[in-house]
Amino acid sequence: MMILTKKMIEIRSILQKVGQSSTLTLPSIVVIGSQSSGKSSVLEAIVGHEFLPKGTNMVTRRPIELTLVNTPKGQEEYGEFPDLGLRRITDFSSIQRTLTELNLAVPDSECVSHEPIHLTVYSPNVPDLSLIDLPGYIQVVGANQPLQLKQKIAELCDKYIQPPNVILAISAADVDLANSTALRASRRVDPRGERTIGVITKMDLVDPIRGAAILNDKQYGLRLGYVGVVAKAPSTPGLFKIGHTNLMSTITKQENAYFSSHPLEFGPEAGVNVGTTTLRKKLMNVLEQTMSSSLQGTSDAIKQELEEATYEFKVQYNDRPLSAESYLAESLDAFKHSFKQFTEEFGRPQMHELLKNELDQKVLDLLAARYWNKPIEDLSPAKPEVDSIYDLPKADPDSLYWHRQLDASTSALTKLGVGRLATTVVASSIQAHIDKIIGQSTFANHPFARDAIMEATSTILNERYYSTSDQVENCIKPYKFEIDVDEREWGLGREQVGNVLKKELKDCESALGSLESAVGGRRKLKEVMSFVDKARKGDVIVEGGDGRTGAGGFSAALLARGREAVFLRDRADIIKMRLLAVKSKQCAGINNKYYCPEVFLNAAASKLASTAVLFLNVELLSEFYYNFPRELDLRLGRQLAQSEVEKFAREDPRIRHHLEVIRRKELLELVLEKMESLRQLEGRERERRGGA
Ligand code: GDP
Repeated sequence: MMILTKKMIEIRSILQKVGQSSTLTLPSIVVIGSQSSGKSSVLEAIVGHEFLPKGTNMVTRRPIELTLVNTPKGQEEYGEFPDLGLRRITDFSSIQRTLTELNLAVPDSECVSHEPIHLTVYSPNVPDLSLIDLPGYIQVVGANQPLQLKQKIAELCDKYIQPPNVILAISAADVDLANSTALRASRRVDPRGERTIGVITKMDLVDPIRGAAILNDKQYGLRLGYVGVVAKAPSTPGLFKIGHTNLMSTITKQENAYFSSHPLEFGPEAGVNVGTTTLRKKLMNVLEQTMSSSLQGTSDAIKQELEEATYEFKVQYNDRPLSAESYLAESLDAFKHSFKQFTEEFGRPQMHELLKNELDQKVLDLLAARYWNKPIEDLSPAKPEVDSIYDLPKADPDSLYWHRQLDASTSALTKLGVGRLATTVVASSIQAHIDKIIGQSTFANHPFARDAIMEATSTILNERYYSTSDQVENCIKPYKFEIDVDEREWGLGREQVGNVLKKELKDCESALGSLESAVGGRRKLKEVMSFVDKARKGDVIVEGGDGRTGAGGFSAALLARGREAVFLRDRADIIKMRLLAVKSKQCAGINNKYYCPEVFLNAAASKLASTAVLFLNVELLSEFYYNFPRELDLRLGRQLAQSEVEKFAREDPRIRHHLEVIRRKELLELVLEKMESLRQLEGRERERRGGA
């Protein structure tokens, strides 16, 4: 029973997963032959399908490591390219196309590549075999081929025909054996002909007597012998294609017809081996024996690899176990922990501050639009005893105008869409915080996890967005009709707006500073500003210049900066004035609210923020805090497929290497275990045979 080869092929596929660095090789059958010797035809006859690249332009440019896996009778035949992730290809012409593409991807300038293509064919009609197809030896280098090509092909073949591999040397019957490139190459590495099988193709093209003589050749004596075949696919491409599944039986019939019509030369009495069926059996036997005798050596090599992997694991990773799952689980736990901390630090006070800052800005805008945009002279001077270089405006509490101004401002504030604004501000802040937590976590190196977490965040927030903003909008509705500010609130507002104005003043001044350095100094800016001032009063004509140079000898860009500076200076002046006003006695009490709209609006903004925050807390924040960890579990927990977990862990190079060392070690352990039981099986077999 050919159990060994099958098991060894399984082991080989495990070893392939161990990775490139592995120096382990299990014996294979390496097919060599010169171009047109019939190499492809023989391989296709063995597999029973046309699947190899065809064409005149050197179509085999990479080694094809072909694994044949025998499957139970009646099962479908298919091929797989494990490296490409191409599975269960039942159409062999599609395998042929893929092979052609893979080969032609090697540029003409290089012509051959040492990188093997892995192809596995599963079929009830094939034996368990491991074959390697190599580029055919060439005699003459073609016009558009590199000169060293001959050399390059020979080097590639030499690499593969080393022990313990079996050499399948293909020669055509119509070429003198002395001229067979394949036999010559084999002779160099296997001078006693101990691991070479000779295949003589195109037996139909020579006289049967001569054909039989070749098979009996003693000059190039091979211990494993010669097999003669007629492997030519009986279809002429282009005329009609034979059914793929019939190739094997068609060739067998064709060979039977030919060989049995010359019983004297090829019959049972003749003592020669003929036919692809015989060849197939021979390959199985030879490979099985080779596998058996290489068991010990392979076992030793695997033991050594395993020792190295074990050592690396110890030295580099202190024997610390790690799996993609455990890494993900630990990362997720740590992330959730950081998130928990965040939930303790981000609550109502923080939301209030965020929202209040936002509303403060809106209040500043309203003040600018309703009060500060007036030329300063329009605001009537304050009482002369106020100790200031500025004239403070005085708003007559009985004037309907100032009543309307404050009412309109308050109404604009309450109606600016506080619901949306508040929800947006808090939601974006949560998003920014989560992003920051990711940045400080192991997930920082994992784009996949980062995306999943950000998506979890926005999903929850989006789900709550409209209902939250509606709720907030509803609950501040009463303020749209009336806002009552008591003395305490007024006092607080007065203090706060002072700070807001101071900060605004600072911003204005630093913006002015930037403009100064942008135009090249204070003096320059002053010059432009004074020109802009004059122009505003009508003292000079701004029109003029040719559009590029602007007016007054200043460039258009400079003038624009001048205008900006003048605006900033005026705004700063007003803010200074209003700061003094807010600090003055007139603003000390609520009874003067028409004179101090800043304080009143600030107090109103605080009330809006407090109310909004109450609902934001219930509708958005608590919901988010509850759902987020669950959503994380969903997206990064059990729901992930094993392959996704692996992909995730491997995104981090350190983790990838750690995992690889462990995997390598585990695979080698597995292989070694399998090898040991195979050896025991072999031992028992030998004993049984010996005893019998
Ligand atoms: P490769 O270049 O070594 O792969 O050779 P091919 O398998 O492509 O065969 C070269 C040519 O020889 C093709 O036209 C085949 O049809 C033909 N051929 C292969 N084997 C036989 C055979 O046994 N008998 C005959 N008459 N022709 C064959």
